[in-house]
Amino acid sequence: MANVTKDDEIPEGSWGIFRRLDRCPEERWDSFRTIVDRYGAKVGHRSMISPIRAQRPFETVSSDEPLYTHPPVSESNDVFCRIVRGLLPAIVVTKDKEPFQDPYSTTPIKESLEEYKAVTIINLYSPFARVLKPPIEDTGEKDIPYGIPLVHLLTKHYEHIELVPVEELAALISTTVSSLNSIISYFEDKSIPFLLSQYTFMNIGARAGASIPHLHSQSFINVNEHGQGSKVQSFLVAFEEQRKDNPISCLGCHYANKDIESDYLGQKLHIEERVIEENECWTALAEYAPERDGHIRIIPKKHVSTLIQLNDHEILLLADILRKVNWGLSYFIKDFGPQLKIYWDRNILLRQQFVGYASPLHMLIDIIPVQIVGGAEVFNDHRVCSILPEKTAEIIHEYLKRKPLDSCP
Ligand SMILES: [Zn+2]
Ligand SMILES: [Zn+2]
Repeated sequence: MANVTKDDEIPEGSWGIFRRLDRCPEERWDSFRTIVDRYGAKVGHRSMISPIRAQRPFETVSSDEPLYTHPPVSESNDVFCRIVRGLLPAIVVTKDKEPFQDPYSTTPIKESLEEYKAVTIINLYSPFARVLKPPIEDTGEKDIPYGIPLVHLLTKHYEHIELVPVEELAALISTTVSSLNSIISYFEDKSIPFLLSQYTFMNIGARAGASIPHLHSQSFINVNEHGQGSKVQSFLVAFEEQRKDNPISCLGCHYANKDIESDYLGQKLHIEERVIEENECWTALAEYAPERDGHIRIIPKKHVSTLIQLNDHEILLLADILRKVNWGLSYFIKDFGPQLKIYWDRNILLRQQFVGYASPLHMLIDIIPVQIVGGAEVFNDHRVCSILPEKTAEIIHEYLKRKPLDSCP
């Protein structure tokens, strides 16, 4: 063998060869969605945190697009602004907290919504059949996804969640609560057993799937009983599983109140070191087993399973912590995005109990920045990350202490 590299010439971590345990990759499982199967294997979401991954070169052609900060704010003449001004038709389910049209309405209207802070409308481009009116002779045999697609809209034009005044952000959450409530009560009135899967999320930035930059969130309410994807199922199952032996002890409650050292998988959780921000009702942490670098999870201190269980005070404090941690995350991405390859764009996911399920889920809110993933992540529910969540928390916490909250990076 010619030109053999000697053992002591190999740089730490190259080719997966480590001498130092503190540089070695670490494996972590998301306690809220991982179970141990009958073979003794953990099944759920895994992160492998490997700092050396951040050092790999990207020999690709660079683009001029802003990747790590928000692009300049667009003109406020988009579809949503025009709906709010009464120039385009919409089916309006709630105006602020007030229910307005039926979730199954087929009558779009044009009217000014400018006097409200936030409204809920039916998505024009639905992934579901909401109302089906086939001609009698059409007896298709395909399965149809039935559901109600909602768009929750701030009536003023914003593109940065961190720049929305707290009261307006709270109004957006309140209008979401009211619209979900009116859909749930619509089914309750029918007094038949039903299953509703609720996906409430916010896409911020084009790379996170926002087709319109005007800040809005969405709820997909799936009203058929065909089931749901495996990712959501893993949360429902894991919560049931971890309460099996200890029905009164909820991991979410312990997490948010910081009174637990290890989870039921035996992992040391480092909760204190991962806290980014907290208030009377909420704790925001850098996620233990990140789905992407910079992943933040907000957890209510009170045991709630769904958004509709929150009161006005809790909603206001949620709006406040959402605004702060997103602001901190934007700074983090501006400074560390180029190295970690995380973009300014992000998804905010509300993980809540599905109606009709008995799983004792503790509501969670995940803020996940866009980071390009490869085959390993497409292959399975796992992720290779580059920065330890404790470090992410320390950096973002520092920004929140130092910098004024009135501007954006
Ligand atoms: Zn707009
Ligand atoms: Zn709980």
